[in-house]
Amino acid sequence: MRMTARPENVHQARLLRLLRDEGARSRAELGDVVHLSRSKLAVELDRLVELGLVEPAGLAASRGGRRSNIVRLSRRLRLIGVDIGATSIDVAVTDGALEILGHVSMPCNVREGPDVVLDHVLDLLGKLRGQGLVEEIHGAGIGVPGPVSFREGVPVVPPIMPGWDRFPVREVISQKLGCPVLVDNDVNLMALGEVHAGLARSAEDFLLVKIGTGVGCGIVVDGRIYRGMSGSAGDIGHIRVDDNGPTCVCGNTGCLEAYFSGAALARDALAAARSGRSAFFAQRLEQAGTLTALDVADAVAAGDPVGVRMVREGGRRVGQVLAGLISFFNPGLVVIGGGVAGLGHVLLAEIRGVVYRRSPPLATGNLPIVLSELGDTAGVLGATRLISDHIFSAT
Ligand SMILES: [Zn+2]
Repeated sequence: MRMTARPENVHQARLLRLLRDEGARSRAELGDVVHLSRSKLAVELDRLVELGLVEPAGLAASRGGRRSNIVRLSRRLRLIGVDIGATSIDVAVTDGALEILGHVSMPCNVREGPDVVLDHVLDLLGKLRGQGLVEEIHGAGIGVPGPVSFREGVPVVPPIMPGWDRFPVREVISQKLGCPVLVDNDVNLMALGEVHAGLARSAEDFLLVKIGTGVGCGIVVDGRIYRGMSGSAGDIGHIRVDDNGPTCVCGNTGCLEAYFSGAALARDALAAARSGRSAFFAQRLEQAGTLTALDVADAVAAGDPVGVRMVREGGRRVGQVLAGLISFFNPGLVVIGGGVAGLGHVLLAEIRGVVYRRSPPLATGNLPIVLSELGDTAGVLGATRLISDHIFSAT
């Protein structure tokens, strides 16, 4: 197995991350930022060219005197982002600057277990290869919908992933692809996606609340993911909001996500259809034979009062939990993402209302609560950001 080239020192690593985040730059501009002498900078950049990580890209406009050479990340660099959700898989390929070159996805139940699901991941990657988008792979990041031991690259007692407990995801995929691989919780990767290309680009301390099939929270402190002692930091879906609430997938009762999540909305919509409380859901059920959170989004858009009430009540529960988190953590920004974020402004208005009423004014005075704008690219982007931070760091 050929090892991917890595920077040899902190200066080279810094230059690579600058070129990733800022794009092509002249040698003179890079010199201004990294505070290296002209000759030292030339040595490091020449070495990065030799390693195949950087390439020349023509001459810059004159700043008075000799024109400086422009450099950029090698256009051959390819990173893979994999986002394994509860009910779908997304795989994307990016260049070194994390521009998405191709993105494919398929429905897939994570409960089918690691062998089946990871085979699907490799099939999707094969599709991207078939489109001529991937030759050599320099690194891959993988998100899974449960707690992960980041150091070991394995899921740890994930409640909705039977058969995955301590399965060596990182080892298996690294062997198959012949490149460095990192595995993390899917919500952490969404938060990294926001850091790279979303609304959190300039936020050092923020929370990303994912409301999808389940509910989770990515915690970013000083620009870095906080994972906690055993990788379960931010697992807010199982905070109890009512002792007498519905039973949750984790076996407890009254968890936040048993009240409000993609799965809970589908359950409540089905109940409303069957009891005759909502003509909208009854009609949808008759047409499709089943109901999902997407039907709830349509119900809200159509002004169905039952659908609107479901989302308002759910938003209120999320807001209750979030108000506690905000008092504790004092974030500079809260981003709401995940499939259910498609419920849009009815949900956002309810969450904002509860948070601003219940949190101390000092914590919410300057606190934007916003919907993610990255859609289903947040997870795959964050996955490539994670692995690029790794391979663009000094060995
Ligand atoms: Zn639970």
